[in-house]
Amino acid sequence: MDKRVAVVTGASAGIGAATATALAGAGFEVVLGARRLDRLRRVADSVGGRALELDVTSQESVDAFSAALGRVDVLVNNAGGALGLDRVDEADLDRWRWMFEANVLGTLRMTKALLPALLESGDGHVVTITSIAAVEVYDGGAGYTAAKHAQSALHRTLRGELLGEPVRFTEVLPGMVETEFSLTRFDGDTARAEAVYQGIDPLTAADVAEVVAFAVTRPAHVNLDQIVMKPRAQASATRAHREK
Ligand code: NAP
Repeated sequence: MDKRVAVVTGASAGIGAATATALAGAGFEVVLGARRLDRLRRVADSVGGRALELDVTSQESVDAFSAALGRVDVLVNNAGGALGLDRVDEADLDRWRWMFEANVLGTLRMTKALLPALLESGDGHVVTITSIAAVEVYDGGAGYTAAKHAQSALHRTLRGELLGEPVRFTEVLPGMVETEFSLTRFDGDTARAEAVYQGIDPLTAADVAEVVAFAVTRPAHVNLDQIVMKPRAQASATRAHREK
């Protein structure tokens, strides 16, 4: 039998890159998508995967990406992130628009495009990386938490709409993971990004990837619906124990 194929969005860095690595290790043929093709190729080469340029905020890009695929068994909707930490009364509409485009509509575009192939595989699996921001709110976080709540609602709706079809749906909701996430959120401000992880042992991208690999390697009748994972020292989005 041919190898099962896993598609990972946002695979040029962080959780996506680690997930591509873990899935290749678990025996999948991996297709990696992201905008920065040079970085994407480096990750793809290291795992023997295939790098294809992808911008999930563009329908044209998603169409071209999907047209280049054949068999698809697993889709990991990982591309996304946060921009800024602005209060609602100071909200920047363009930043909100990007967060909704990347996290919510990106997941919608990719899932819609690949569902026929996932069903055709006879045992499809959609994993969506949302966040604890999909179940919590915090001051300054509304743009991101609203987008993650919406992305989660979209993902969980599919679980019901496709009941009876050969496809599984797993939502992974991580807390604090040390990646380039905070650097992007704070427009490249390294000191501000590093402060997020100070005094705490955060999750690594590999920790999340291992959980994704576990979920997609269960037998076909087992659906892990939601997996919330946080560092031991983090109780919620706003409460963490930090060593001095
Ligand atoms: P990261 O290191 O900043 O990686 C983000 C990835 O998404 C990059 O590979 C980036 O690649 C890709 N991406 C961004 N916009 C894209 C677009 N329009 N089209 C395609 N790819 C795009 O952050 P991360 O922590 O790994 O984040 C991955 C996911 O986990 C996100 O959905 C994030 O919200 C979620 N998450 C993160 C944390 C955390 O604490 N880090 C916690 C919970 C959930 P290019 O720039 O090359 O396109």
